[in-house]
Amino acid sequence: MPGWRFLLLIRISNFAILRRHVGKARADRLSHDLKVRIDRILPCANSTIDRQTVEADLLGHSLADAMTALECVAAAFREPIDVDGESHRVDLALAAAAGPVGGVDDVRLAEEAEAALVQALAEHRLVVRDITTVSPSIDRLSLCREMESAIERDEVFLQYQPKMHVRRQQVASAEALVRWEHPDRGLILPNDFIPLAEETHLIGPLTLWTLRRVIADQQILVEDGHDLVIFVNISGQLLSDRAFIDAACGLITANGAKIGFEITETSMIRDPGSAVEHLNIAAAAGIPIAIDDYGAGLSSLAYLKKLPATELKIDKMFVMELTSSNRDPLIVRSTIDLAHAMEMEVTAEGVETPAALALLSVMGCDQVQGFLLSRPLSLPAFRHFMATEAQRGIEPPAFALRQPGSFWKAA
Ligand code: C2E
Ligand code: CA
Ligand code: CA
Repeated sequence: MPGWRFLLLIRISNFAILRRHVGKARADRLSHDLKVRIDRILPCANSTIDRQTVEADLLGHSLADAMTALECVAAAFREPIDVDGESHRVDLALAAAAGPVGGVDDVRLAEEAEAALVQALAEHRLVVRDITTVSPSIDRLSLCREMESAIERDEVFLQYQPKMHVRRQQVASAEALVRWEHPDRGLILPNDFIPLAEETHLIGPLTLWTLRRVIADQQILVEDGHDLVIFVNISGQLLSDRAFIDAACGLITANGAKIGFEITETSMIRDPGSAVEHLNIAAAAGIPIAIDDYGAGLSSLAYLKKLPATELKIDKMFVMELTSSNRDPLIVRSTIDLAHAMEMEVTAEGVETPAALALLSVMGCDQVQGFLLSRPLSLPAFRHFMATEAQRGIEPPAFALRQPGSFWKAA
């Protein structure tokens, strides 16, 4: 019995350009053609078209089915399409909202799908929002207005989530995650305000604020005796911004801080040439680069080879259903082997259960991050964690550790 209902939104993101090339009538026919093709790819879906966006209602067994459906659509449009004898590239923004069958409010599902589409357009990647884990979409306009002064009013703060080295049983790094404690709305998580910060160009000042905060917090951790690399998420928009890269690298090197950058594979799409150039500048300044959310986007490892990255983070989507899915262990296993062949360390995100940890350690995964080890913590709670639980490690079940030494990637 399918347990999930999905609302897919698929939009032609380069519609305006196509219309200029082929004229309005043919562009409208192209939209109609999009629906016909989607009906062929997803015959069980109930679809409608409104201008250049197809909406498809679909049932599935797991959250991963929504991603698979979107990937099938993406694959079908990867090659240029013939429009009256001329070949044209049709770029798609692909998004979905998912909720349990029977427990979904139609309006909520539609709002989350629309929010996912905005994010997919801004980040050039597939976005699937699980409505059981995201807070209702927030009134965007008023948030935009308020965000500008949120930093000055001290409403923005950071939490730290440790990453554990499986073989060494040691926390050697952590990820800084930004939060907004709104005076009326309460806690707002980054998925609800980072896309807005990107649209309004506040992401640069917000990320520089984050770097300053991390530098100060890292100093406190060093005084506690903890020598950790702290990773900061860098939006795609900032990767092509030379002034930002210079300011960020300047801050880090001037303070002798040990800070890494997490970048998503799809963040490179916007302007790959300057993104690679800027990441090389950061890597040359001693800043480790980690590829975030690997597997959630559309690019390939061969493409990522061009990046000066030393760490690959497998998206939590594959890790969270590792022990219940047939497909995910194969994907994770082959990703770990490929990343090791490319001399990258692998981190699995979203490790929530001892069973997932055991399987990952058998597969040779280097580091784990997730609720099993710790949720993201405020600085005082993180200091307490480092002084207590981090010392104990998280032993996977004994069988997982009985691997020969050669099984693990050399440290
Ligand atoms: P991300 O970089 O993939 O960060 C990991 C997210 O997974 C965090 O969500 C974290 O709380 C969550 N998580 C960690 N362990 C587990 C687990 O075991 N199970 C589950 N279900 N979730 C887990 P969070 O904090 O809501 O952040 C969401 C995203 O917002 C981040 O995803 C990142 O893309 C973005 N973000 C956060 N801080 C910043 C920032 O300072 N700048 C930018 N540009 N983006 C940020
Ligand atoms: Ca991240
Ligand atoms: Ca991630």
